[in-house]
Amino acid sequence: MIFGAAARLSLGLVTVIILAAVSFLLFQAFRDPVRIPPFTVDFCMALLGSSMVLGWVGVGLWMGIILLAAAFIFLSLGAFMGLVWFWPLLFALLGLAFFSQRFFSQRQLFLAQHSALVEEWEKRSNDLRAGIATRQTQQEALTRKIQRFETLEEFTVHLSRNLSLQETIDGTLAQVVQMTPADQHTCLLYLVDNEQQGLSLKGSLRPKGGTIKHKKGDLLDYWVLKQRQPLLVEDTQKDFRFNIEAQDAELRRGFRSLIAAPLIDEKGIIGVLRMDSPNPRQFSPEELRVLTIIADLSTTAIRNATLFALTQELAIRDGLTGLYVYRHFMERLQEEIQRSFRSGKPLSLILVDIDWFKKYNDRFGHISGDIVLKQLGKRLLGWAQQGEIIARYGGEEFAMILPGCDARSGFARAEKIRRNVEAEIFWLRQEPTKVAISLGVSTFPGEARDREELIRAADQALYKAKVGGRNRTCSHSLS
Ligand code: GH3
Ligand code: MG
Ligand code: MG
Repeated sequence: MIFGAAARLSLGLVTVIILAAVSFLLFQAFRDPVRIPPFTVDFCMALLGSSMVLGWVGVGLWMGIILLAAAFIFLSLGAFMGLVWFWPLLFALLGLAFFSQRFFSQRQLFLAQHSALVEEWEKRSNDLRAGIATRQTQQEALTRKIQRFETLEEFTVHLSRNLSLQETIDGTLAQVVQMTPADQHTCLLYLVDNEQQGLSLKGSLRPKGGTIKHKKGDLLDYWVLKQRQPLLVEDTQKDFRFNIEAQDAELRRGFRSLIAAPLIDEKGIIGVLRMDSPNPRQFSPEELRVLTIIADLSTTAIRNATLFALTQELAIRDGLTGLYVYRHFMERLQEEIQRSFRSGKPLSLILVDIDWFKKYNDRFGHISGDIVLKQLGKRLLGWAQQGEIIARYGGEEFAMILPGCDARSGFARAEKIRRNVEAEIFWLRQEPTKVAISLGVSTFPGEARDREELIRAADQALYKAKVGGRNRTCSHSLS
């Protein structure tokens, strides 16, 4: 479209006015040809020509043709009146009109074709741009995926090494933080504590540092534990599933978004792995998926490490009393002597032997004797102080290592234990029974130079106690 509607209307109006003026002038001229002014016909012709062009250009082809016809009629009249020189003018006007019509129609066609082309190319370029953007997003996602798989592979190799439980937990937390790195994120790992019947925090990682006060998990951790399903909370203030804002400040810890996955395998659930942030909308479903994969991988590793630790613990514990076995006791005694040597602090050893235990067995039975051994072991453990090591040294013999205890305080400790046992009642099928113990005490470095000498000295003191009448404490140097 060359002209707008208003322009076309104006041109049309101008044309009509011109035609009306021409018609009037010619009408006047024919009525009284004698008084025709010499310029009138020329003027009319010029007006006709211009109105024709205006009409053609402005109003369109059909109006142009009508105007041409009108011009032709008027010009014929002009010729009739002997104005032959208008013929060349008519053809010139016709030529001009034809040319302009062609020019404008071709221009219109060209523009139409051009705009179609432009539209086509714009569409193509938009399609291409959209395609490139999609490919870029796909490539970025793929690169991220490859990186994740590579780190997951490294993580699997890391877990397959013989790691301790704490190493496995720390490795898991480091892996989660590596996957979703952010300064303000906190990663936590809880394990099910069967004794406490709940969750217990076993490890935490905060790239910015700081400690976690709440060690038992919050309602979201318990939701994961109960539902055995991964959880994504985009914004705690807008999530109506959980009334987090109603929790106390310590429970909330100021986090706004979270992802959490259960540490679960076919044998059951052993804990919860979670990552939270003080800002809302920090985690995507993809990140939750990765967290779940990490949780799955570390579940087996944590289970194995726990089992390994338990096996190791069982290997050094006596089956009846739960106290350390002789072999472990000897190792620990060696370590403690070395430590005492380095620190210059003394160390006392107490050997305990139950008096007349054979007779006790004979009277109440071997099983009753076992019950006494078990109860006595438990009591000795209960009376022990921080850092002291208690072992079942032999059949009905026990040994205690008292780091930092000199001969005098070692003796006093032994006497206290003896009196406690003397006062203790051992119930056998609702029948109260009593046992007594004899104790031998020796001290490093005053009474011995090494482990063997220390044991021998304690043994000699114990023998002295037995010979001296039993139910008593003897020391290598004091009595
Ligand atoms: P004393 O030490 O006062 O000289 O007399 P005793 O009768 O205790 O003598 P001894 O220490 O030599 O006896 C060890 C007894 O302890 C032998 C055995 O009947 C009993 N005994 C050892 N191990 C166990 C055990 O595991 N269970 C039970 N029930 N008895 C045990
Ligand atoms: Mg004995
Ligand atoms: Mg005995």
